[in-house]
Amino acid sequence: MAQDTGRPSGTHQDGNRLAGPLSEILRAEATTAWWRCPDCGRSGPLAELHVYGPEPGLTARCPACSRVALRMVPEEGHMWLSLGGATGAFRFRTA
Ligand SMILES: [Zn+2]
Repeated sequence: MAQDTGRPSGTHQDGNRLAGPLSEILRAEATTAWWRCPDCGRSGPLAELHVYGPEPGLTARCPACSRVALRMVPEEGHMWLSLGGATGAFRFRTA
């Protein structure tokens, strides 16, 4: 029996494959985004999230169970974005 190494099998493409689909999402009107909490199952529009901050950044939480939905932390010329409260973040150039 093969041991599960946590790595997907098969072929992969590099991260450039995400550029097209990501650009579609990032240029969309943010207020039209819909969110679903993986912990409590609540779903709703972005506007229903509870947002804390602004320092050290903005943290949006589920209004029902307080799970972190996303964090945005500005940095000189950049914006860090973390989705779902997971470790790791993406840094976008803003200037
Ligand atoms: Zn929740």
